[in-house]
Amino acid sequence: MSKYAFFRGQIVPIEKAQVSIMTHALNYGTGCFEGLRAYWNEQDQQLYVFRMTEHYERMHRSSRILHIQLPYTVDELNQITLELLRREGYRQDIYIRPLAYKADKIISVRLHDLTDGFAIFAIPFGRYIEREEGAHVCISSWRRVDDNAVPARAKITGAYVNSAFAKTDAMLSGYDEALVLTQTGHISEGSAENFFMVRDGHLITPLVTSNILEGITRDTIIVLAREEMGLHTVQRSIDRSEIYVCDEAFLTGTGVQVAAITQVEHRPVGTGTIGPVVSHLRELYFDVVRGRNPRYPHWRTPVYEKQG
Ligand code: PMP
Repeated sequence: MSKYAFFRGQIVPIEKAQVSIMTHALNYGTGCFEGLRAYWNEQDQQLYVFRMTEHYERMHRSSRILHIQLPYTVDELNQITLELLRREGYRQDIYIRPLAYKADKIISVRLHDLTDGFAIFAIPFGRYIEREEGAHVCISSWRRVDDNAVPARAKITGAYVNSAFAKTDAMLSGYDEALVLTQTGHISEGSAENFFMVRDGHLITPLVTSNILEGITRDTIIVLAREEMGLHTVQRSIDRSEIYVCDEAFLTGTGVQVAAITQVEHRPVGTGTIGPVVSHLRELYFDVVRGRNPRYPHWRTPVYEKQG
């Protein structure tokens, strides 16, 4: 478990990082957050944080949408994260959670003229879904929050009630995940993952205007598919029934990593087992994040000083 947190401007023992029951963000969901992973490489004796800068850039964008003034630049956030991880001394795969929130103890539903709080903690983390090699998903009866209601492009704490509705109903019905549709009935994304499918040798993923979170793993996969496999990704709106006829489908996200979807409700996806494109992408992804593949060094930030 975590021993420390970054809270109110310093690293403190985790049990000291506490907020009041009256906190605005707890009452109204007025916060934004990030989720990063760091991967332990036994051979290098190194912990690599994956695409840290991009995560903090997105956090700045989420904050902007929410009228939150982050007190730190992206560089400062990177440094604070590295300091926290060094203090924890982790030698295993971990998940990092930065959180910015409206900290006032006040009854007033608004975003402006409030005090912003900021914290980071990090915990050991394994798989987010068990069946990464063959997830069974349903089409959720819940619709994705709309950009004109709660913008999905910002990682807003309150918006995750929408994700939780979809995830819980999927899991209680025996599925691993849910695919969530937009108000117009097109595929948006999973409850906390982006969606891709393979049709006729092309990768296809929903547009950023389909109420998705603009995923960093989504971008990573677009780059790896292009650079390592010569596969172009088409970004366009996707009909629900295309999943019934596609060759392969998968989810991407910091938590889920790259997970094959092998069944949608009562229909197999493609052959009903993990396909060649997603298998290859998973291999590439895990080699890159863990630093077994030396390419893309700018995506990995080592936590510890190099030995020798
Ligand atoms: N969509 C949602 C709703 C998410 O919560 C996440 C996880 N952050 C993603 C997509 C995937 O984003 P990323 O690859 O940046 O983790």
